[in-house]
Amino acid sequence: AKSATGSGIRFFESSMQRAVELRATLEQQLRHALPNNELHLHFQLQVDNRRNIIGAEILLRWLNANHGVVSPADFIPLAENTGLILPIGQWVLETACAQLQRWQQDASTSHLHLAVNVSARQFRQENFADQVKEMMNRFNINPALLKLELTESLVLIDVEDTIQKMHSLKELGVKFSMDDFGTGYSSLSYLKRLPLDQIKIDQSFVRDIVSDKSDAVLVQTIIDMSRNFGLEVIAEGVETDQQLEILQRNGCHAFQGYLFGKPVTLDEFEDLLGQLPGK
Ligand code: C2E
Ligand code: CA
Ligand code: CA
Ligand code: CA
Repeated sequence: AKSATGSGIRFFESSMQRAVELRATLEQQLRHALPNNELHLHFQLQVDNRRNIIGAEILLRWLNANHGVVSPADFIPLAENTGLILPIGQWVLETACAQLQRWQQDASTSHLHLAVNVSARQFRQENFADQVKEMMNRFNINPALLKLELTESLVLIDVEDTIQKMHSLKELGVKFSMDDFGTGYSSLSYLKRLPLDQIKIDQSFVRDIVSDKSDAVLVQTIIDMSRNFGLEVIAEGVETDQQLEILQRNGCHAFQGYLFGKPVTLDEFEDLLGQLPGK
C-alpha cells in the first residue's frame, strides 16, 4: 500500500494482517485441539415453568495454551471451513450420549435431556443419520433425551435433504429444536414441513422484551405460532425475572439463561442437580 493513503489506512491494513495471522495460527492449533484434550464441554441448564431442571445444552469450550479460552463463536466458523467440525462434532455427540447413558442409570437423573448443536457441515454428511443411529445403539440410550439443535441457515442450504434426514432421525426417536429462531429467513411454508419438536427463541429477542414493544410482539407471535403448530417453545438468554415473567405470561414452556445458570463444567452442573428441591 502507498504511504500517501495515510496512517488510518495503514493501521487498518496492519490490524487486518494481524487478524489474518491470528486466524492462521488458530487454525493450525485447532487441528491439535481435540487430540491434545483442549476441547471441553460446558452444560447450561434448562428449566420448565416450575423452575425444575429438565436438561442442559452442551456448549463447546476451547482452552488454548496461548489464547486462553477461545469462544466457540470464534472457532466454530474456523472448524466449519476446515472440516475439523466433523471429528469435533462427532466427539461432542459421543460425549453427550455417554453422559446420557450415565444419567440414565440413576432414577434422579434419568429424565434429563441433552441438547447438542449440530453444524451445517456435520448435518450435511451423507451418513449423518447412520452415525447417530450407531451411537444410539452403542450407548443404548433413550433417543428422546437427545435433542439436536439446528439453525435456520442449516435448514435452508437444502430444504429437501434436511426434511429427509430429519425424518430418518425422527424414526430413531431423536428430538429436534430450531435454534436462534427468528434471526434467519424461515418461512412458515417450510417450517410446517419440518418434523420439529421445539422452537428456541433467540436471545436477541429476549434481551429487549421488557423495553421494546416490537420485540415483545414478535416473541408473543413466535410463541403463539409454535404452540399452534404443536411445538414446545424454549427461550434462551433469559437474564431477569421481568423477562421470565413476560415469557411465562405469553405461554413459553421452557427457559435457559444466566437467570438460572451460566454454562458450567459437568461437576458443577451435577452439583446444581443435587440442589434440586426434594433431593
Ligand atoms: P447458541 O447455540 O445460540 O448458544 C447460546 C449462547 O448464548 C452460548 O454462547 C451461551 O453461553 C450464551 N448464553 C446463554 N445464556 C445466556 C444469557 O442469559 N445471556 C447471554 N448474554 N448469553 C447467554 P457460547 O457458549 O459462547 O456459544 C456460542 C455459539 O457457539 C452457540 O450459540 C453455538 O452456535 C456455537 N456452539 C457452541 N457449542 C457448539 C457445538 O458443540 N457445536 C456447534 N456446531 N456449535 C456450537
Ligand atoms: Ca444452541
Ligand atoms: Ca441459540
Ligand atoms: Ca445464538
